[in-house]
Amino acid sequence: MQTQTLERMESNVRTYSRSFPVVFTKAQGARLTDENGREYIDFLAGAGTLNYGHNNPHLKKAMVDYLATDGVVHGLDMWTSAKREYFEALEQLILKPRNLDYKIQLPGPTGTNAVEAAIRLARKVKNRHNIVTFTNGFHGVTMGALATTGNRKFRENTGGIPMTGASFVPYDGYMGEATNTLDYFEKLLGDKSGGLDLPAAVIVETVQGEGGINVSGLEWLKRLESICHAHDILLIVDDIQAGCGRTGKFFSFEHAGIVPDMVTNSKSLSGFGLPFSHVLMRPELDQWQPGQYNGTFRGFNLAMITAAAAIKQYWSDDALEKDVQRKGKIIEERFQKLAAMLTEAGMPASERGRGMMRGIDVQTGDVADKITGKAFEHGLIIETSGHDGEVVKCLCPLTISDEDLQQGLDILEASVKAVTGKQAAATA
Ligand SMILES: *Cc1c(COP(=O)(O)O)cnc(C)c1O
Repeated sequence: MQTQTLERMESNVRTYSRSFPVVFTKAQGARLTDENGREYIDFLAGAGTLNYGHNNPHLKKAMVDYLATDGVVHGLDMWTSAKREYFEALEQLILKPRNLDYKIQLPGPTGTNAVEAAIRLARKVKNRHNIVTFTNGFHGVTMGALATTGNRKFRENTGGIPMTGASFVPYDGYMGEATNTLDYFEKLLGDKSGGLDLPAAVIVETVQGEGGINVSGLEWLKRLESICHAHDILLIVDDIQAGCGRTGKFFSFEHAGIVPDMVTNSKSLSGFGLPFSHVLMRPELDQWQPGQYNGTFRGFNLAMITAAAAIKQYWSDDALEKDVQRKGKIIEERFQKLAAMLTEAGMPASERGRGMMRGIDVQTGDVADKITGKAFEHGLIIETSGHDGEVVKCLCPLTISDEDLQQGLDILEASVKAVTGKQAAATA
């Protein structure tokens, strides 16, 4: 495989090509193919961007049809038939059935663009600077969003420019099972001498993706919502990774029955892996002046075509939701078994997650890398997350076939066995 040009020219900042140093040429469903024709099962799936799989035929057809009629690809934020189709699908099939009333802001196309827009709006509406965020939270790497991201790996590269305007509070479970971390947050809010500047907003992931598949309790989320209400603080759910069905509901906060003031979505929002994000906000929060927040790529029309097609294809009934629950159970049971095997071999491990957002915490990045490295050798693409990369995380497409899911899990099991010294790994 010819990788010399790629290695010579690409900045040292590259990441995933280090774990998977092959040249990919094709992708379909839950499978990637490299230049030598070798197939891999994809449990990374764009870190949660390909919930409907690679090159999903329904979405590809909608995009190709739109292009074939010379549909508008770029139009700044002008109205297009693509935008209307997206808004209509979102309203009819997602928002109305869930009794949600939101206006839509289309910022730049990345997740971090959506987070920046949401926290800017919260600050404008409340005229307060502070944003409360949680330990191990990940909300993007531009300055505003970075201030709310916990991981030092990202925070330490600003040449000393301080990332201001955010305060960290321990996430659910951070202090151990016995401590409800919201007791601490509530106490700070009620204490004139607690040192916490009254925040404009709280930003939270219901399941922390990059932070290590940390799952917040549904009661914890409900209480967080009521604390926000009681103190006139906006609640922003960052559903960029956990949204679009990953946890078994379109929005991950549906499980808790809460209604955030704002929601950010990106990653799987276009459904096809095209760059796209939006901010949903309660109508009365839409206090922007025309053009007060802009960007050249607001609302990428091709992405709105595939996003509308994804909503119509997968969210007209509850078939996908049920399938995510079913496959989530399969992954959960296999992961519990793998965690038990590791623990027995003297490498303490545990399983956690919600729906098809699941991980095995093996406590050290070293063990996790050994497992994912073995997995890649045997044809499975799977990554790690967490503060030390200690969680092997499964984000396979929600639409993965049962056969590919089983095969991927078999490879993972063989890789765990290889790492615990039980036996050589099987191959794809
Ligand atoms: C990936 C992610 C982001 C950042 O999105 P980018 O498109 O990488 O900028 C923000 N929040 C969460 C929860 C994410 O998983």
